[in-house]
Amino acid sequence: MSIKDPRPRHIKIPAEGQKITVVDGRLVVPEQPILGYIEGDGIGPDITRACLRVWDAAVAKAYDGQRRIHWCECFLGEKAAGLYDGNYCPDETLYALKDLVVSIKGPLTTPVGGGFRSLNVALRQDLDLYACVRPVRHYAGVPSPLKRPDKVDVVLFRENTEDVYAGIEYKTGTPENEKIARFLRDEMKAKFFDGAGIGIKPISEFGSKRLVRKAIQYAIDNGRESVTLVHKGNIQKFTEGAFRNWGYAVAREEFGNVTLTEEQLYGEYKGKQPEGKIVIKDRIADIMFQMMLLRPDEFDVIATTNLNGDYLSDAIAAEVGGMGIAPGANIADHVAVFEATHGTAPKYANLNKVNPGSLLFSGVMMFEYMGWKEAADLITLAYPEVIKDGIVTYDFARQIDGATEVSTSQFADALIERIEGGIDLEAKRKALQDKLIKERKQREIRRLLQPLEEMLDTGHIPQTVGDLMTRTLITVADDETVEAAMHVMSDNSVSSVVVEPGSGGQWGILTRRDIVTKIVKGNRSPSNTKVGEICSRPVFSVQAETSIREAAAALAEHNFRRLTVSQGDRVIGIVTETDIFRAVEKFGWAGEVMA
Ligand code: NAP
Repeated sequence: MSIKDPRPRHIKIPAEGQKITVVDGRLVVPEQPILGYIEGDGIGPDITRACLRVWDAAVAKAYDGQRRIHWCECFLGEKAAGLYDGNYCPDETLYALKDLVVSIKGPLTTPVGGGFRSLNVALRQDLDLYACVRPVRHYAGVPSPLKRPDKVDVVLFRENTEDVYAGIEYKTGTPENEKIARFLRDEMKAKFFDGAGIGIKPISEFGSKRLVRKAIQYAIDNGRESVTLVHKGNIQKFTEGAFRNWGYAVAREEFGNVTLTEEQLYGEYKGKQPEGKIVIKDRIADIMFQMMLLRPDEFDVIATTNLNGDYLSDAIAAEVGGMGIAPGANIADHVAVFEATHGTAPKYANLNKVNPGSLLFSGVMMFEYMGWKEAADLITLAYPEVIKDGIVTYDFARQIDGATEVSTSQFADALIERIEGGIDLEAKRKALQDKLIKERKQREIRRLLQPLEEMLDTGHIPQTVGDLMTRTLITVADDETVEAAMHVMSDNSVSSVVVEPGSGGQWGILTRRDIVTKIVKGNRSPSNTKVGEICSRPVFSVQAETSIREAAAALAEHNFRRLTVSQGDRVIGIVTETDIFRAVEKFGWAGEVMA
């Protein structure tokens, strides 16, 4: 919807300060920007009041008064209804949020009945806020059910406009339902039970690509290590599988010089991530839930479809005890509305009691979005210090022994005191950086030493022979003796070796079975027989991107146990029946993701 400039009524744009603008696709943030805020309903005014004070204090401290925010109050929800003759979602506010580019809002009540759209849905649709962004990380001292919650630090990008949320649903028993059921059965030959409710799940190239593009750009701007595309493409090939494929296409076509795939990481780079490159990988959604419990530090930026993102964002937030303090934002190409992710908790309204964390950290996200990292860091680093002192609101007090329960505004006071008291930002940043570098190194070592195990343990379901193959090829020369080749096999505990091309230029394989059948049964001497005389040649070779199913078909058809894997003409690995067996044992066989 295009929002027209309505007659100004209640929103007063501050005379001082300047609006944020977008020039050549980038945000231009003045030293004294005007930011929109909506205090929200229920507990909204309490937390907004507290957060505005903390944000202002952090900006003043971080920039020695050089930078300052000029806040512009906008109205949605009950406060708007009071001012705009019962209108919960006035055009003036929608226009202002777009015009000011960056704003932040408290929770809103959705009036029940009367045909109201949820205000949050209205905002998303009218401003086309297509990416729901949720950073989830642990703050020291915050109660969590995980043993090592500090390993969780992800930013989830959830597609906000498509999927089963598109609202294309037909209730059982209605003429529309019957019409579409008839079409599906008669014309499309689809089979399903009578009387089924029917919903449609549209996933488009446009919608998928703009979401993944945003996630990759975020990873680049924030020095992140990887972007994981989370999907259910093994079952829903043309929606979820297509999302995955479009995601990889965006990475390749638009960010080819700064991204690489997981296959390239393990293959070309032997597990060592090159500086300045972001790894693009994908995971099946159900495995991702396991992985975020078992190996959360393997994941960094996550891009996913709407329904997966809905479940996953709350599940991950709960892991770090962050349901009450998880921040969020809904973002269009540039316009961004940051928001508390909890509701209005009406029973606590105006009691000055609740935790301001969710809105507070949404503000931190907002500063990061504006490029005001110093102000953001001040809050993130001061916060755990306050928690460590046991100063917490009621919700944490009931989970932390010996904590002192304080009000919303007292919590803000304690935080501001920490911020103004000064924090050795550099030392803390360095400690954090050192920790990240150490963890990154450990991951690299694991990838280098045990590539296949590492891939499987981090939820990468092998799809191609390139994912499965053994990369450290054990080779022998064509004119080597069989006896020497047997020592090589024993020393390396392998049942076959790859034979380098002889004068004919073809690769070969020598197996233990060849020793039994051609040396012992053939009554030949291993010390007088050259490898080239008894090895199998030519070997059957497949390209690294060949799917496992095709490789299995080749093994079955030719009655082989192993295949060499090539990239162009070069043999780069070997894949055996045992490799396929181990992968299927670990992950089952749910079929291929549409390639
Ligand atoms: P809710 O407002 O999030 O509250 C549920 C419970 O969560 C509260 O009773 C409280 O738990 C805890 N909680 C929420 N915010 C907290 C905070 N800042 N500090 C500490 N604890 C907090 O969910 P709801 O009761 O289902 O929804 C109430 C209204 O909010 C509804 O009108 C709904 O439509 C709206 N809503 C709005 C948004 C939004 O605007 N983004 C999102 C969700 C819901 P305890 O009772 O255990 O103390």
